[in-house]
Amino acid sequence: MKVSKRCSSILGSLTLEITARVKAMKTQGHDVIGFGAGEPDFGTPQWIVDAAKEALDKGLTRYTPASGTPELKQAICDRYKKKYGLEYDSAQVVVSNGAKHSLFNVFQAILNPGDEVIIPAPYWLSYPELVKMADGVPVIVDTAEEYDFKMTADALREAITPRTKAVIINNPSNPTGSVYSRDELKNVLDVAIGRDLCVVGDDIYEELVYDCKEMVCIPTLGEKYMENTIVVSGASKTYAMTGWRIGYALSPVNIAKAMGNFQSHSTSNPNSIAQYATIAALNGPEKGVEDMRSAFDVRRRTMHERINAIEGLSCRLPSGAFYMMMNISGVLGKKWEGRQIGGSMDFASFLLDAQKVAVVPGISFGADNYVRMSYATSLENIEKGLDRIEAFCASLT
Ligand code: PMP
Ligand code: GLU
Repeated sequence: MKVSKRCSSILGSLTLEITARVKAMKTQGHDVIGFGAGEPDFGTPQWIVDAAKEALDKGLTRYTPASGTPELKQAICDRYKKKYGLEYDSAQVVVSNGAKHSLFNVFQAILNPGDEVIIPAPYWLSYPELVKMADGVPVIVDTAEEYDFKMTADALREAITPRTKAVIINNPSNPTGSVYSRDELKNVLDVAIGRDLCVVGDDIYEELVYDCKEMVCIPTLGEKYMENTIVVSGASKTYAMTGWRIGYALSPVNIAKAMGNFQSHSTSNPNSIAQYATIAALNGPEKGVEDMRSAFDVRRRTMHERINAIEGLSCRLPSGAFYMMMNISGVLGKKWEGRQIGGSMDFASFLLDAQKVAVVPGISFGADNYVRMSYATSLENIEKGLDRIEAFCASLT
C-alpha cells in the first residue's frame, strides 16, 4: 500500500519523539537527564483533577457540541476579558484537542493551496508541517540572536509576496523564550496589518513570562489587530495539563464557524471530562501558575549561568516559556571519540551516547548552530545535566 504524497511530505514530531525516548530510557533503568521535554514537570493542580472527578461522577461523559461546551467557551471569553480587557463572544471560540489541533484547524480554515505563511526562525517545529498539511507554503524568516531572536519589521516586509496569507507570532517563543514588548510587536505587525495579512498569535506560553515583563496579546494592540488576528492558546502549559488535550482558538466568527464545521467531521468534541476540568482551571486560583512560574524562573537563571560558564557554549537569558537556545557554534568542528561534530544533530546524538543527556537539535527549529534546552525539569537535574555537558565539552578534541 502506498502512502499519499501529502503524508509522505510530513515529518514526525522530533520533540515528542525525544520526550518519549527519554521516558522509555528511564523506564528501562537508564540514568538519563532529559532537557528535551516540552511539558511542565509539575502535576495538574488538585482542584482541576477534582473537577474532572466530579464531572465523571455526574456522568458528563457524552458528546458535547463539536466546538466545545457553551460553559467552557464562556469561561474562555471571561478570562480574555479579565486578563486582557478583550471582548470576545462565544461564537468566536473553538475548543480543540490541544493547541496543536487548534493551529491545525486554523490553517485548514484560512489557507488555499499555495498560500504562503511567514514563520520566524527559530520556530516551533510543528508550524511548517501544519502549514504544509493545509497545502500552504511555509516561508521561513531568520532572526538574529543579538536581537533576541525577534522578527523585525524590515525582515517581515522583505518576506511578503503577493501569495502571503498569514504570519505566525509565537509569544513567548518556543524554542527561544523571547518575549516581544508592546512596541516591538506593534512595529512588526503594523507591516502585516497594513497588507491585510492574517496574524496567527500562538500564546500557549502566555502565563510563563519572567522579570515582570508584560505579556502582550496581539488584539490588545487595537481594533484592526482584533479583526485580523487569530489567537491560539490552551490548558497544556498554563495548568500543567499536557495530556488532557485542550486548546482553543479565538477568531472572527466566520473562521470559527469554518473551524467548528471542520472539527465536527474530524474529531467531534474534545474530551468532555477535560473540558469540564478546564473550566475549573480557568476559574480557579492563580496559585498553581504562580508557583510554577517562580520555580521555572530559578531554573532559568541557573541553567543560563551554568551554560555560559562552559567554554564553547553560550545562551541568552530568555524572558518566557521554559526553553533556551544553547549556542553550540564554539564546539562545531570539534571531535568526540574521533567523530566530528558537524551540526546540532551530531551534537545531540554524541551527547546522548557519551553522557546520557537529551537535548533537541536546533536544526529541527531551523537553527543548526543551536540545541534547545528545556528547563521543565528539577534544579537537581539541571545541575547534574550541566555537569555532564561540561564533561562532554571538555572531552572534545
Ligand atoms: N504551540 C507551541 C509553541 C508549543 O510549544 C506547543 C507544544 N505543546 C503547542 C502549541 C501545542 O500545545 P498543545 O497541543 O499541547 O496544547
Ligand atoms: N510543544 C512541546 C515541545 O516543543 C511539546 C511537544 C510538541 O508538541 O512539540 O517540546
